Amino acid sequence: MQIGVINSITNGGRCFEHVSQFGLHVCQLCSWDMAHCTREIAATVQREANMAGVRICAMWSGVPGPAEWNFAKGPVTLGLVPPEYRASRVAALKQWADFAAWIGAPAIITHCGFIPENMTDPEFRPVVAAIRDIATHCKKLGLEFWFETGQETPVVLLRTIEQVGTGNLGINLDPANLLMYGKGNPIDALDVFGTYVRNIHIKDGVCPTNGCDLGHEKPIGEGKVNFPLFMCRLKETGFDGDLIIEREISGDQQIKDIRHTIDYLRTLDPTIKG
Ligand code: MG
Repeated sequence: MQIGVINSITNGGRCFEHVSQFGLHVCQLCSWDMAHCTREIAATVQREANMAGVRICAMWSGVPGPAEWNFAKGPVTLGLVPPEYRASRVAALKQWADFAAWIGAPAIITHCGFIPENMTDPEFRPVVAAIRDIATHCKKLGLEFWFETGQETPVVLLRTIEQVGTGNLGINLDPANLLMYGKGNPIDALDVFGTYVRNIHIKDGVCPTNGCDLGHEKPIGEGKVNFPLFMCRLKETGFDGDLIIEREISGDQQIKDIRHTIDYLRTLDPTIKG
């Protein structure tokens, strides 16, 4: 296991100081701006990552259109579930897959949205078909398609992976998201989909306390993930992938919290690299 951090594309792709400042050598590159999805920026990213000695373990791929991170509007704005945005987002994710191939990243990651809990829901099959379309494109490029956890229960994610069935599917497990969306417990979730977990977001959080808003993100160790037990269970599943720190705040406090998280992980398990 190796520690990394989420790194947004900024400055035309000259953005790896954000990783190097922590002494880290792994990142998930992230963008929600399709204007970044060009050969020119890909070439800059590849050159700058090489110069900084940073490995890009996945391309976290945002999609165009609205995104509301709550229970009121989330189901009709997020991912591939809202029918009115589906086609444009399938196209966007194929473009990000092309970009991932250009920069030598092995996978794209995205939120697929509030995938219906009930597989007889009329929207379940079309969502599966849309994911299959993208995953097939990824497969042709030698890439995997990884689901960011959050908006669906663990068994729904497992079922979706089975139904898509392209063989190049994995999970970017964000343990805080499972709690913040009230969709499950990340430790128990490993029993359901553990074999599909490829990367981890190291993020903490708490459960929702009303029916409309997500639970809050917290600094590492202050939420309900229970990282000591989570990391133990993760090892038992045979996980040996990257541990990507995600702290969804900005400014000096984000930098401080990322440094603290690196120390926290090393204390938890001195064998972790990075
Ligand atoms: Mg995440």
